[in-house]
Amino acid sequence: MRALMQDKPLLISSLIDFAAQYHSDSEIVSRTVEGPIHRYTYVEAQARSKRLANALQRLGVELGDRVATLAWNGYRHLEIYYGVSGMGAVLHTINPRLFPDQIAYIANHAEDKYIFTDLTFVPLLEKVAPSLTTVKGYVIMTDEAHMHETTLPNALCYETLLAAESDDYDWPQFDEMTASSLCYTSGTTGNPKGVLYAHRSTVLHSFAVCMQDVLGLSSRDTVLPVVPMFHANAWGLAYAAPMCGAKLVMPGAAMDGESIYQLVDEEKVTMSAGVPTVWLMLLAHMQEHGKKLPHMDRTVIGGSAAPQSMIETFERDYDVTVIHAWGMTEMSPLGTTGVMKSKFAELPFDEQLEYKVKQGRVVYGVELKIIDDDGNDLPHDGVAFGHLMVRGPWITNGYFKGEGGEVLDADGWFDTGDVATLDGEGYMQITDRSKDVIKSGGEWISSIDLENLAVGHPDVAEAAVIGIAHPKWDERPLLVIVRNPGSDVTKDAILQYMEGKIAKWWMPDDVTFVDEIPHTATGKIQKISLREQFAGYKLPTADAAE
Ligand code: ADP
Repeated sequence: MRALMQDKPLLISSLIDFAAQYHSDSEIVSRTVEGPIHRYTYVEAQARSKRLANALQRLGVELGDRVATLAWNGYRHLEIYYGVSGMGAVLHTINPRLFPDQIAYIANHAEDKYIFTDLTFVPLLEKVAPSLTTVKGYVIMTDEAHMHETTLPNALCYETLLAAESDDYDWPQFDEMTASSLCYTSGTTGNPKGVLYAHRSTVLHSFAVCMQDVLGLSSRDTVLPVVPMFHANAWGLAYAAPMCGAKLVMPGAAMDGESIYQLVDEEKVTMSAGVPTVWLMLLAHMQEHGKKLPHMDRTVIGGSAAPQSMIETFERDYDVTVIHAWGMTEMSPLGTTGVMKSKFAELPFDEQLEYKVKQGRVVYGVELKIIDDDGNDLPHDGVAFGHLMVRGPWITNGYFKGEGGEVLDADGWFDTGDVATLDGEGYMQITDRSKDVIKSGGEWISSIDLENLAVGHPDVAEAAVIGIAHPKWDERPLLVIVRNPGSDVTKDAILQYMEGKIAKWWMPDDVTFVDEIPHTATGKIQKISLREQFAGYKLPTADAAE
């Protein structure tokens, strides 16, 4: 029997409409590339998104066409989010930290028709433009006063474009499974692959973000997404904030501790979200200047494992609850978040920490399971670890244009490439990427656990662990460390610090010190380059085994 309920499609345009109508005084505050802080409300954001939709129509952009951005988090980027997807075109957010030839590859692969760019990225695009085969024009996201000479063909000024249009525009209604946006994964192996989101998946994901047990975003919040809008839609916050009318604070290009602190403090930010590296900079700034976080209630840390020391500092020293979150571009991105169940929240802090360092618990809408190499289900006992598989309405079912072939198994599960444990409460803990796990004598050693432990040492700025070939054990861990400035901490001191905190056979066979650890465009440790750098490295334990 078919139900008798309205079949109203879930469309992204409805989010900005709701915010404009019912949260007309909620602000969007942006640090601009041009310098000053800009502020306006959802009413203006909606009106300008509609102007943009009219402009895009005049430029010949049609349903399904790809329109790209190379932009920081800011109000114009938000307008493009809604203007492009709202009119039925596909917003392609390009990560400007990619190499120029990767940018050319994905813009051509996506067949972008127009590219919108912040002033910052004009020089980068000028280099890339000659290789772009489908782009008809470039829109520079500034006003006439800040436009300058460019070799970009058909360069238009964003504000001039908008000024010529009316904000009278009715968002078209279409099937909720229509593609809304496109985001390429950074592709640590092979070419980047495009994840094509739907209006439906985006709206459903936004509901989840607002759930108390997920990120609990609400109209009472002022949210600062430090996570970029070019990285999995700022973890969905660019959509969830209008859904609940939260005030949005956008950091623009300035991610340093001082600039972030200034926004957090002046705008009374209650919730923020970003990768651990950003929080390291903020914490260092606050510690140096004796600053506090009186307004902040919680901070979301994800993208890489949140080190225990960072969780402790936020919670103990600043009274800010850490929500450890895990997900991936292919998952819109949220899969698990670490909001405490009440029975754990009553535990002493040290015991709570055991849960806080985990990547959180499963969000309604996402199914998780772990399997072994042969595809057998593993128990959810918090101990067994295996390949983490996911399924759900905001998870990809294949990459754009079929790249990478079939990505789901026969039952519709997607392999995340992560290795994890799961427990009966739904808590998940990543132990590794399948590619990075260290296989020692047939058993797995978690590189992430070792890294987390090592960065807890006060002299360690960053740590990475890779497997090095070993004649007896196949692979053994090598710990690569960047020391804190001025420190001359030794291998022995590091090993001594780790001893007793992990199983004996997990102890690294060697520790080496470097000036810098390579990172991917999304700020993760680039293990592939590290493995290349240490190819042929001889562990001190190798001789004894031969
Ligand atoms: P990229 O484009 O860099 O691959 P994603 O955000 O899609 O960016 O990366 C997703 C991966 O990041 C996950 O599969 C996982 O390996 C890692 N990751 C994300 N959040 C966490 C976390 N909280 N702890 C550990 N690893 C994480």
